Amino acid sequence: MEMDLTIHNAVIDGTEKEVTVGIRGGRIAAVSPESLPAGRDKIDAGGRLLSPALIDPHFHLENAFLEQPVNRSGTLKEAIDLYAGIKPNLTTDDIVTRASRAIRMAMANGTLWLRSHVDIDHIARLQLLEGVLATREKYRDIFTVQVVAFPQWGLAANPEAVDLMWQAMERGADVVGGMPHGEKDMDAAARQIEIAFEIALASDADIDMHCDETDDPYWHSLELLAEKTIDAGYQGRVAASHCCAMAAWDDKMAARIIEKVARAGITVITNTPVNLHIQGRGDTRLVRRGIARVKELLEAGVNVSCGQDDMDNMFYPFGKMDMLEVANFAAHTAHLSSPEEIRAAFDMPRYAAARALRLPDYGVEEGDRANLVLFNAKSVEEALRLQPARRYVIRDGKILVENRRETIFSDRIPG
Ligand SMILES: [Zn+2]
Repeated sequence: MEMDLTIHNAVIDGTEKEVTVGIRGGRIAAVSPESLPAGRDKIDAGGRLLSPALIDPHFHLENAFLEQPVNRSGTLKEAIDLYAGIKPNLTTDDIVTRASRAIRMAMANGTLWLRSHVDIDHIARLQLLEGVLATREKYRDIFTVQVVAFPQWGLAANPEAVDLMWQAMERGADVVGGMPHGEKDMDAAARQIEIAFEIALASDADIDMHCDETDDPYWHSLELLAEKTIDAGYQGRVAASHCCAMAAWDDKMAARIIEKVARAGITVITNTPVNLHIQGRGDTRLVRRGIARVKELLEAGVNVSCGQDDMDNMFYPFGKMDMLEVANFAAHTAHLSSPEEIRAAFDMPRYAAARALRLPDYGVEEGDRANLVLFNAKSVEEALRLQPARRYVIRDGKILVENRRETIFSDRIPG
């Protein structure tokens, strides 16, 4: 039977030899070392790397491109305070417009799934959620948004926010979020985790919490999250984002908690660019990087991913929705340099994120959904190093984006 699309002369992970990939009905129907008959549409990969499309497992769609007001101290506290001041003014139309810009940038860079945390609190109420849900709906057939209800102002002493969290899940949020280190102490953090599990269990939803996003080693809510995950039998359904305080813990404490995180099957999502930018602001010499202990987590068998987190706003004035840039930051900051470690970094916005988001049929094997990206690079190492153009981005077997940018050298420049 004729294929809808065939991709010829492609390199895929784990194969030395070029292959032909045949796609029919939105799925990969054949991966062959031989040449297949050309399909109705045809791409010559020319020896380039064909990969499953990229995933951003941690972002905030509703505040992308909020360039004002400016965060003068650069700290997380000032960012949260500034954001609280303008949250009530954000309309659904405005959120959809800015979020759409971010999603189109992400798609152009080969990302087809994104997990977005949206503030649910006494200031935002459900207003921001409405904007993000409308965005999710707008792109439903071509780009997947998982929405996390995120109680930025805490739950332990905030019954109104607890009530709003229940409503957010009913309204259509997919995942229960949290920020235990935003509570007043570790006891209150434990209470927040209890409440989040109560909501998640009742909603059959996964959990993804901002954990210990601080340089202060007092905070170790990640340990409470791991213990609760094991008690509740929620292994494989929980992610912990940021986990910056881990860098400030002593080695003994870190080893104890990393072992529990591994046992709990928690995914750790390091938001390296934003963590580098926000953490260590109080340090004057030997400024801390403030990122999770990525190497030790990987060595312990923990699923480690990475996220863009913020873009062009009071939390982070940079970013371009390119998960290869984010993974490259993670590789640099966590000292990932061996071939195995570089592969682990490249897999952070791919297989590790797919595991965190529990995406079925993710990959480039027969039967997988044909959600693919063709890099203008010959290998994994080259892709991470160059962050080259994404030649084609394919969703369910159809070309969604083609990047045609090319550099033309004058013939006066010697080769
Ligand atoms: Zn975040």
